[in-house]
Amino acid sequence: MAALLSVSHLKKYFPITAGFLGRRVGEVKAVDDVSFAIPEGKTFALVGESGSGKTTVGKTVIRLIRPTAGDIIFDGTNLSKFKERDLKPWRRQMQIVFQDPTSSLNPRRRVADIIATPLEVHGIGTARERLARVKELLELVELPDKYLYSYPHALSGGQKQRVAIARALALNPRFVVLDEPTSALDVSVQAKILALLARLQKELGLTYLLISHDLSVVKNFSDHIAVMYLGKLMEMAPTQELFANPLHPYTRALLSAIPVVIDEELEMIPERITLEGEIPSPVNAPKGCVFHTRCYARMDVCSLQEPQQWEPAPGHYVWCHLFAVGGDAPT
Ligand code: SF4
Repeated sequence: MAALLSVSHLKKYFPITAGFLGRRVGEVKAVDDVSFAIPEGKTFALVGESGSGKTTVGKTVIRLIRPTAGDIIFDGTNLSKFKERDLKPWRRQMQIVFQDPTSSLNPRRRVADIIATPLEVHGIGTARERLARVKELLELVELPDKYLYSYPHALSGGQKQRVAIARALALNPRFVVLDEPTSALDVSVQAKILALLARLQKELGLTYLLISHDLSVVKNFSDHIAVMYLGKLMEMAPTQELFANPLHPYTRALLSAIPVVIDEELEMIPERITLEGEIPSPVNAPKGCVFHTRCYARMDVCSLQEPQQWEPAPGHYVWCHLFAVGGDAPT
């Protein structure tokens, strides 16, 4: 299946400045040489701890942030070097839903105005036509139209996220970045929002980039998963393959922490692995393998050389020296 979005060697470095004149004294490599592709109508999940660079990837691929280097090919066009004015027609096709609907919705605007904002910005329709479209969108996200003139404070967390999803869909996009869309919600509401997103994908043919810190959220929702750590890819594979055969020590640690619901899953989940310490600051990322300061399987080479990409099975990629020397993942 053809890729709707294809990202190659994407880098985003933020400058570190000092002094009165803002002299550049270094850089934070928030995203460092990341490549992946998402076929149309599929969901690609980016997973990692806070500080792994996954949100920066999400914002960069829809050009809310300008990349430092790399290509962002959307439907055959390279958007990476486009100027803001050239991006406008593409913005209609690419939208984002943020983690916290309370902060992403303007508290002084009513639901109808919030959802109509993208239509106004792009000069689409008359006021009457925009209102009709807003009503259609409310129905699509299963929110009764009695909330049309409510302010965000009158809505529950789940209802606010439905408004944010309706706003993201107002322009009929083909591609949506879902940045931790359920992590600010109660557990009981999370499943309903994920079910809504799955239905919308099916009905509207949407392509998703799902960003999450939680493998259990992406397990039943994504077709492909990439695991990130300190701006780099650690492992990437089709979802079933990643769960059946996790190879990278970091993936195995993340997997070992997810709750097991049924016996079959027990066999797929490694024994609990507790990682030492916190994710290091990207300002001083470790040399060699960026994960080596917390890795329970590190070898001498790990602090000296950055691992290459290995493909142990078709479409399954891992960046770890263990596989360069033909070893198996440790348990
Ligand atoms: Fe661990 Fe070394 Fe593999 Fe990095 S390269 S994940 S430190 S074993």
